[in-house]
Amino acid sequence: MPQKGYGKSRAAFRRALDVMPGGVNSPVRAFRSVGGEPFFVRKAVGCRITDEDGNHYVDYVASWGAMIAGHAHPAVARAIRRAAGRGTSYGAPTLLEVELAEAIRRAVSSMEMLRLVSSGTEACAHAVRLARGFTKRPKIVKFDGCYHGSSDALLAKAGSGALTFGLPDSAGVTEGAARDTITVPYNDLGAARAAFEAAGGEIAAVIVEPVAGNMGVVPPADGFLEGLRDLCDSAGALLIFDEVITGFRVSYGGAQVKYGVRPDLTTLGKIIGGGLPCAAYGGRREIMNLLAPIGPVYQAGTLSGNPAACAAGLATLKLLRKKGVYGRLEERSAALEKGLREAAAGAGIAVCINRVGSMLTVFFREGPVVDRASASGSDTVAFARFHAAMLEEGIFLPPSQFEAWFVGLAHGEKEIEATIRAARKAFRTAAAR
Ligand SMILES: *Cc1c(COP(=O)(O)O)cnc(C)c1O
Repeated sequence: MPQKGYGKSRAAFRRALDVMPGGVNSPVRAFRSVGGEPFFVRKAVGCRITDEDGNHYVDYVASWGAMIAGHAHPAVARAIRRAAGRGTSYGAPTLLEVELAEAIRRAVSSMEMLRLVSSGTEACAHAVRLARGFTKRPKIVKFDGCYHGSSDALLAKAGSGALTFGLPDSAGVTEGAARDTITVPYNDLGAARAAFEAAGGEIAAVIVEPVAGNMGVVPPADGFLEGLRDLCDSAGALLIFDEVITGFRVSYGGAQVKYGVRPDLTTLGKIIGGGLPCAAYGGRREIMNLLAPIGPVYQAGTLSGNPAACAAGLATLKLLRKKGVYGRLEERSAALEKGLREAAAGAGIAVCINRVGSMLTVFFREGPVVDRASASGSDTVAFARFHAAMLEEGIFLPPSQFEAWFVGLAHGEKEIEATIRAARKAFRTAAAR
């Protein structure tokens, strides 16, 4: 429990505010949607974070899921140290890149070939470019509430209509960049079908988070992913699964293995870098062969396939291949879900808990939450009180109602129980007016 105040974090934030917009290098870190100020991290080991003032927290942010093995895992740290001692970037290929690409393909067989990049944003933007290059069509279909990184075309979303042709979601994105993005509600196969009826011959690809994680966790409805596969097949469009969160998370082979739907292209990130910048996109060989230097679709990166990042990724995947890993994650996460449900009921507060494996969200509303519209009906004020109360109890949750909590290998029974105990109090705080 924080007992040491937040003086050093406050001072750090004052300095940060002067030199970085909002004091942060990525917006959600600023805590603005829950009020208050972020703590500054001094270090983290396993599932525990220590802030600059010496307060300790059980961490469910986990670098937005990247740290599934826990912070500073000895095997990952050793791999990074070994790589760092041999030089950290060359502008020439390394065996580590081949090894990571092979390890990924063994897990995700639809990725017959792949390219390593440095962020999920890059992977998604380039997968879309590649899909356009392959199909020679301009339009893409995405789902309201799905996040595919912060590139121009993917920051477009729907207005209020069921089917809206791109309105930019950010200042600085031109209507031109957003015009070819069609946005439809998640889990709404009818709306996706209507998009194909209206523009089928022009649609290059459908891009989707096979389990949504960026409007809070929203699982795919029965038949949704299969239906998208069929729509793409009939129209000659490509299906892109954005598995930047779900890859190596909901199963070793990601959501495509869990749900048995094979996309044409897949994007990965987060876990495959083991906490260093690494991401990937890949898929069918005939599509990937369109990439430069052998094909006409250009994409490049100075730090792509960075050896330290590849080493961290390889060490992480090795830990995840151990027997019983996903079963243990499921067990711990199910225990957390059950405890949270009981705690909320005990406090008389209505919540909807969506969970797929080790990713879950507690929505402060009655269920079901199946898309962005239902997610956004949550009581964000109650969530903000809950978040602050949990932080006081030493539990670090994502500072937004619309994010996933991540359970990792380092969350033991003890930490899960402490989290449930804290939640009993925090739900009561959230319920009190
Ligand atoms: C995090 C995320 C991205 C973007 O990855 P970055 O590495 O932050 O650029 C893309 N898609 C999904 C589903 C994500 O969760």
